[in-house]
Amino acid sequence: MTTVNVRSIDALEELQTGLIRYADQAQVTLDAVQREVQRTLDWLDERVRHWQNEVRRSQEEMQRARAAYERCMASGDREHPPSCGHFEAAVYEARRRLAQAEADLRMAAEARKAVLAEVDVYQREASRLRALVQNDTPKAVETLRYKVTVLRSYTGGISAGGVVAGAVAFGAGLAAGTAVGVLHETDNMSVDSLQSSASVGDDADSMLQPGPYAKEFIPATDSGKQFSEIVREQIDKIGYTHGCHSCGSTDPGTKSRHFIPDHQPPSALRKPGQLQKLYPHCLACSRSQGGQVRHAH
Ligand SMILES: [Zn+2]
Repeated sequence: MTTVNVRSIDALEELQTGLIRYADQAQVTLDAVQREVQRTLDWLDERVRHWQNEVRRSQEEMQRARAAYERCMASGDREHPPSCGHFEAAVYEARRRLAQAEADLRMAAEARKAVLAEVDVYQREASRLRALVQNDTPKAVETLRYKVTVLRSYTGGISAGGVVAGAVAFGAGLAAGTAVGVLHETDNMSVDSLQSSASVGDDADSMLQPGPYAKEFIPATDSGKQFSEIVREQIDKIGYTHGCHSCGSTDPGTKSRHFIPDHQPPSALRKPGQLQKLYPHCLACSRSQGGQVRHAH
């Protein structure tokens, strides 16, 4: 999987817009080429029919010229031989025209055959491209739209131009990979909006919202308690650097020496569709929060 650094959500939105525009353009182009192919085939069909008629007409012309020449030669007698030179010339001329028409017909028929073979190859390519554009582009756009929404939610709805501080490691959007990135809560972000997106109660000391030591977080991909190695590693990195988001302790207090990824808002209190963030929690705060979640219910 390719990993790209996306410094700005705007870049993702541009990519999304670009994909939609690309899909539209591809459709328009495919339709135009299809019409052009049909026009070419129609024209070649018309040419073949035209030269078939010309060959038939030339054959009749040839028969008439030969009959006229033979009638001429049959006239007169031994003492008065007929003068049929111009009838003979007419036969030669008719034969020349017939040969030309036959050559033109062959050429048109071969061109038509060659174009049909090319069209056959093109049609296969075009239908693949059409399927790609019709099926995969909407999927890619959908994936991007979702990721933009996720990222926007972390910037607290800062409008266009809002930059996520720090690079977001991003699974290439088309692969619909799992995005795991570290986002920093810098001064650029509105703390109010971050808290409102996660807050449950008004109690400032509540563990049901990011604590006073919350500095960095990673986006939660689901509400489950199963965490990947990479999530564990990043949570530990944040925990050992900035401490438990609730109490600030850089000691996780666990036997495993791992911090406990804490969903904010807590999974139990998450509203449908609400996005969650992961912060490091020490063991004590994690246990304390469990009680609060149950109490809030
Ligand atoms: Zn703690």
